[in-house]
Amino acid sequence: MSDLVPPHGGGSLRPLLGSLASRGETLRRAERLKKVPMTSREISDLFMLGMGAYTPLAGFMGHDDWRASVTDMRLADGTFWPIPITLSLARSIADGLAVGEEVALADAETGEILGQMVVREKYTIDRDFECRHVFRTTDSRHPGVEKVMRQGEVNIGGPVVVISEGEYPAKYKELYLRPEETRAEFERRGWKQVAAFQTRNPMHRSHEHLAKIAAEVTDGVFIHQVLGKLKAGDIPAEVRTRAIQAMIDNYFKPNIAIQAGYPIEMRYAGPREALIHALIRQNFGCSHLVVGRDHAGVGSYYGPLDAQHVFDELWEGALLCKPLKIDVTFYCYKCAGMATGKTCPHDHKHHLSVSGTRQREMLSKGEEVPAEFSRPEVVAILREYYGSLGKE
Ligand SMILES: [Zn+2]
Repeated sequence: MSDLVPPHGGGSLRPLLGSLASRGETLRRAERLKKVPMTSREISDLFMLGMGAYTPLAGFMGHDDWRASVTDMRLADGTFWPIPITLSLARSIADGLAVGEEVALADAETGEILGQMVVREKYTIDRDFECRHVFRTTDSRHPGVEKVMRQGEVNIGGPVVVISEGEYPAKYKELYLRPEETRAEFERRGWKQVAAFQTRNPMHRSHEHLAKIAAEVTDGVFIHQVLGKLKAGDIPAEVRTRAIQAMIDNYFKPNIAIQAGYPIEMRYAGPREALIHALIRQNFGCSHLVVGRDHAGVGSYYGPLDAQHVFDELWEGALLCKPLKIDVTFYCYKCAGMATGKTCPHDHKHHLSVSGTRQREMLSKGEEVPAEFSRPEVVAILREYYGSLGKE
């Protein structure tokens, strides 16, 4: 019996990736089926299903699970689930599919077949209704809302078998760990309580401080990178990984921090997204998730602490992975050290604050980066990256 937190839903992990031996045959069968095109977000969800990160889901949601997850943050059987996981099609495509039909799930851009699905249900969705509940807004300038509004108007639900994880395993190698693998690694290290720290960025000292606070109260910290589609201007995963590793190697004791990455695509749903991030981390074997200010938010759609408070609204037993609620972190010149918004009494003018734009400027122009802001080992890697951009 493992000492780690059990997977979500009360059963075993449910990876939907077919065995290596069976994938060739499944693919040959799928090639004869009608192809259903998937967007990048849907593909990311398929990969999450494949690796077991969405345990206990068996595929894309049918109507009752979709509706219950939207309104009540649960599946039709009562299991906690805060964001619908769905596959949408244009009506013209959906009309050509029969309930009970097997279909091939394909990348809309490349045509590559990534999975197979049995269409158990077809249902029309009210996109405004979904967005109002999940995103708390129907404003199409919100990037998550915008994607839902662009979806086809018919959802198809049913069980899936994942045939391919795309380029992830080859591209990210040791970084691409599935829940079964992280659980085995935590056990090998003797970790029982594990705190997940989600990041899309290289880690500066404020992030390092957050991760260290988490490590102080658990057995280890699991630094987990978002590997899904990047926004323009984001630092590539390979550079980010090296920068994070430099921080771990130089500023953490051995056996206290691990980094890995997973194929999620951000929805920017703020509080609801913080909840699903915790659910996913429970499947990876983490007992805690660091939830800072503005977790998974965008613009000013959510209050800075909404993603922390939403955990208090859950019912008993909904989610076993608990939030580590930590306030904003920074270097304070009066405290003469790293501090948080919760405990530092000093005015903002004593806090070191560097905007994203200013960081890029300092790194690409070779300006000195304050040691209170970022570690020199991290700065060296980022400088090299920004320097290489100029030469292209
Ligand atoms: Zn202070």
